[in-house]
Amino acid sequence: MPTDRAGRVLVQPDLTIPGHPEVFVVGDAASLAGEDGRPLPGVAQVAMQQAAYATATILARASGRPPLAPFRYRDRGSMAIVGRGAAIADLGRLHLRGLPAWLAWLFIHLVMLIGFRSRLAVMFEWGIAFLTFQRSIRLITGGDRPPPAA
Ligand SMILES: Cc1cc2nc3c(=O)[nH]c(=O)nc-3n(C[C@H](O)[C@H](O)[C@H](O)COP(=O)(O)OP(=O)(O)OC[C@H]3O[C@@H](n4cnc5c(N)ncnc54)[C@H](O)[C@@H]3O)c2cc1C
Repeated sequence: MPTDRAGRVLVQPDLTIPGHPEVFVVGDAASLAGEDGRPLPGVAQVAMQQAAYATATILARASGRPPLAPFRYRDRGSMAIVGRGAAIADLGRLHLRGLPAWLAWLFIHLVMLIGFRSRLAVMFEWGIAFLTFQRSIRLITGGDRPPPAA
């Protein structure tokens, strides 16, 4: 199975692997060029859209409908939290910053979670983290083991 330098599986435009139309590879495990010819980024938007596409393809096949057009990634924009109650959001024509962007970030991420229980649990966790000044996400810059000797 051909892979790219990062070990991601090179998929066809319908997200299947050559010679195996029944095998789909999506998300971080897949490598597919976007419209600009560069590989699609390893982000949640790509994974979600590819999962939806694979699902739609399987359903179309099962019900005897014609195959879908090749997968096309639609970039819905970017958002990043940059501080407590502050974020930046670039959503096509809509550019937000500060508190409105932060609220938009919270809203969109909660809406995207699957299931009411997940949303409730995450809201509770974020609420606690906000009130207690916790940093819920930390950068991992190394393992437990010391670096090898030079
Ligand atoms: C620290 C960090 C921060 C990130 N921040 C962002 C961000 O801000 N915005 C953004 O868009 N993207 C972000 N990403 C990238 C985003 O998380 C991924 O692109 C996205 O989760 C890919 O989805 P996926 O379904 O392909 O893989 P995953 O979400 O990794 O899902 C794979 C699942 O398969 C399970 N699994 C693995 N092996 C097996 C096995 N053998 N059997 C059964 N199950 C298995 C795993 O447990 C996991 O649940 C971040 C990634 C990291 C690591």
